[in-house]
Amino acid sequence: MDNRFRNRATTRRIHRSLYPLALAFGLSLVSASSHAQQWAIAIHGGAGESEWEHMDPATAAAYQRSLGIALAAGTAVLKRDGSSLDAVEAAVEVLEDDPLFNAGRGSAFAADGSNEMDAALMNGETLAAGSVAGIHFTRHPIALARAVMEHTPYVMMVGTGADDFSRAQGLEQQPPSFFFTEMRWQEFAKVLKDSGRKVPPRPAGAPPEPSTPQASLDQMPRPFAHRFGTVGAVARDSKGHLAAATSTGGMQGKLPGRVGDSPLIGAGTYASDRSCAVSGTGVGEYFIRLTLAREVCTLVEEGKTPQAAADQMIHLELPALKGGEGGVIVLSKQGPPVWSNNTLGIFHAQQIQGGEPRVWVK
Ligand code: ASP
Repeated sequence: MDNRFRNRATTRRIHRSLYPLALAFGLSLVSASSHAQQWAIAIHGGAGESEWEHMDPATAAAYQRSLGIALAAGTAVLKRDGSSLDAVEAAVEVLEDDPLFNAGRGSAFAADGSNEMDAALMNGETLAAGSVAGIHFTRHPIALARAVMEHTPYVMMVGTGADDFSRAQGLEQQPPSFFFTEMRWQEFAKVLKDSGRKVPPRPAGAPPEPSTPQASLDQMPRPFAHRFGTVGAVARDSKGHLAAATSTGGMQGKLPGRVGDSPLIGAGTYASDRSCAVSGTGVGEYFIRLTLAREVCTLVEEGKTPQAAADQMIHLELPALKGGEGGVIVLSKQGPPVWSNNTLGIFHAQQIQGGEPRVWVK
């Protein structure tokens, strides 16, 4: 054989023998990078109007503190390489316990004076999801949503069946008086009176009506004016997996049995590692009709940036349905979380690995 060809053949053999090495090296780079994703988390405490018009320093400080504590609960999980699912659940549980927000303790009231709470969470890696609606006694509705995901073959459970399942799972139960807050009750009473409806008796065990009636509802602490107040979180863990969670007492004065967008997968809550994680807040009926959370992720999958996708849904599609108000937080496989809202404000906070916690109240 001509020496030139022999040399080329030898070179090819050497190259071929290097393929497995190169492949292994390449794969190790890919796996190294997939194990070294920058974690990130964002939370929200609802969108609204009047509280931003009139926010006083004391109220702003209270929200600032609360959002900071919830964010820290989520970041603590991510810092120790915990899962995005654990991070969103941890953050939402703190917000559910906080009476400033319309979820868990501090929930809005249905027209009969009961608290009917909704919650959902979704695992972006597997598309597993769990959700509950119209539950009454579970201290942390988001934990019940997770139990539905992990301990049943279902995605969604509602009402007394979900309450029974919660007890059977050993989740902490609380009476209506635990979820009751005076602020939310006064807000509820005003909504009913304004719409010509009768205010029902205060829930059993709730403290008696304050003896010095508020001179006017305007003198209530500012959170009184909080219109939505649903809570939610989206997170990406150090393995790059996404998760989303949302929890709410729903809309004030809703008819018993009404279910909003928060517990509906694809409407108020969605996560997929192929695109993004979303948690929404606003008038649920519009989010449901647009399958808004899923739609944001579809736009991301089609190549839009998370910000452009969120803005398209919140600033174009939502207002196109008259009355469509609200906002979302969104997190994709790369980059920081983003948010979009067409209300005056949205309480939110976020942190990315290597960065400082940031809280937006005003
Ligand atoms: N989206 C919730 C619902 O419609 C309300 C909220 O965001 O505060 O139930």
